[in-house]
Amino acid sequence: MSLESFLKKQIAQQGPVSVADFMHLALMHPHYGYYQQQQPFGKDGDFVTAPEISQMFGEMVGVWLASIWQQMGSPKELQLVELGPGRGVLMDDILRATEHVPAFHESLSIVMVEQSASLQLVQKEKLTPRKVDISWAKTLEKLAPKPTLFIANEFFDALPIHQYIKTSQGLCERMVGVEEGALAFVVGAPGGHSKAFITIEHTLQENDIVEVSPASVHVMEQIATHIKQFGGAGLFIDYGYEMPATGDTLQAVKHHRYHPVLEEVGTADITAHVNFTALANAAKNAGAKQQQITTQAAFLQQVGIEHRAEALQQHATQLQKEAVQKALHRLMDEKEMGTLFKALMIA
Ligand code: SAH
Repeated sequence: MSLESFLKKQIAQQGPVSVADFMHLALMHPHYGYYQQQQPFGKDGDFVTAPEISQMFGEMVGVWLASIWQQMGSPKELQLVELGPGRGVLMDDILRATEHVPAFHESLSIVMVEQSASLQLVQKEKLTPRKVDISWAKTLEKLAPKPTLFIANEFFDALPIHQYIKTSQGLCERMVGVEEGALAFVVGAPGGHSKAFITIEHTLQENDIVEVSPASVHVMEQIATHIKQFGGAGLFIDYGYEMPATGDTLQAVKHHRYHPVLEEVGTADITAHVNFTALANAAKNAGAKQQQITTQAAFLQQVGIEHRAEALQQHATQLQKEAVQKALHRLMDEKEMGTLFKALMIA
């Protein structure tokens, strides 16, 4: 059975499902979910993320982590948690880039938070040779009670969102149902939404769509609560927006092209833009003292990516020099990832 027929059967029995349930099933169903297959990433997969574009990305995150560790007074025990680590490339680059700070390495116990069993295997294969204290978990429930640094790249965009649409009868949840034999977006009954999550209801025009991600807020609250209790910081990079916004940002990508969200479910990556203001507020409400949102370009520049690019180019062939320049452009340029991607730092 395909995920599509599984979903249609469920909808026939129980009625339309929320966009959040649809997203969760499409990405994380234990048999048919998109992240159960092993090849979403890279040139031969469906999409390329920043760590997969260039080693410089992970190296810069490593610089940031080591400098925060120093600002914390170089604690002897530090937990480093990565959420949604994909193929493990970011962590691998971080560990290589910080090798020359042995006391930092020795302090580390690393926790990789990954729900997909098959991606856990890929990560284990990549990172076991690194000889660091590293373990895997599916959720944040069982972290050790010690100072902790959290990182995540393109993790929050994979967490489920609910969508609501303004109609003449009020705000209604947008659902996935079946029409003429095919999966289709349908409008649910009015009401039922949480006023706490939707702060811009009064500004909405008819047919406007708003998105909320209680799952993301919950994870950020868990992170900030841990930091408040045991000390630490977090860095979260993703495709997203800062100002309150309306509109449908649910998108699917397959083989580097946009794909209809409701077609061939489970074979394309599905994401939504991240509401950074909502994440920062969740961190603040849970007790984080600092929340700073900046662009990916500004963050990478601040930690010195341009110097790193120069150093890499010094002993490189012409071809390698061009590759470094091209990667720098993709990560930094405002028409590429530079400003569309944001970085949230909390402490
Ligand atoms: N950080 C990687 C991969 C991003 S893709 C990179 O930048 O290349 C999203 C990752 O988050 C995948 O590893 C996916 O399996 C994982 N993921 C998605 N939802 C999750 C959840 N609820 N809990 C833990 N991991 C999740």
